[in-house]
Amino acid sequence: MKKLIQGIADFRKSLTEESRNLFAKLALGQKPDSLFIACSDSRVVPNLFASTNPGDVFVLRNIGNLVPPYSATSQDNSASAVIEFSIFSLNISDIIVCGHSECGAMQALCNGFDSECCPHLGAWLKHGEESLNKVRSGIVINPSLSEHNQISQANVLQQMEHIKSYPFIRERIDKKELRVHGWWFDIAHADVYCYEPELNQFVLIDEEEARLVIKRLEEAPSRV
Ligand SMILES: [Zn+2]
Repeated sequence: MKKLIQGIADFRKSLTEESRNLFAKLALGQKPDSLFIACSDSRVVPNLFASTNPGDVFVLRNIGNLVPPYSATSQDNSASAVIEFSIFSLNISDIIVCGHSECGAMQALCNGFDSECCPHLGAWLKHGEESLNKVRSGIVINPSLSEHNQISQANVLQQMEHIKSYPFIRERIDKKELRVHGWWFDIAHADVYCYEPELNQFVLIDEEEARLVIKRLEEAPSRV
């Protein structure tokens, strides 16, 4: 906590003219083009590993980067509200689900946990159970990973499917107005991977892969 307080004082002191101007401009409104869905884990810092600035991405973070599947009567309103806002108010063109290695939520799915003390956590993690079941039934993307990391990768794809269960998301994808991407952050190496459906693999985003992905995005813009 002390680090946080000192950090605020340091931030004020080191704020450049350029940053001040950016914040002054951002006060007039936000126009991010992407919704970034990540885990609450303190080691996952999208602004750092994707070199983003304030205003660049709209963010949803929760335990396990989970998205409840669409339900008109769902009680899990928080994640669904973020998705609705990002589409209907911000008109974002891309949604990224980003899982990560050594995820506590995936380990809890894997090993079980004390749901008596944490009934809400238990109820929330149900949205990740299909990912666990897939891996345990042999549907694995990268067998060289530990089981909880295999579940974490399967979970990225599962949550992408949950997002696509929202009718207004499906409609925009069909009209090529929206794209949904799967990323995975390897904490130990500070590497980010993106899911390539044709390879059914997560591929390291290095210079070459970044060029390929950007080229593909330019060739198939979500706004037509
Ligand atoms: Zn996590």
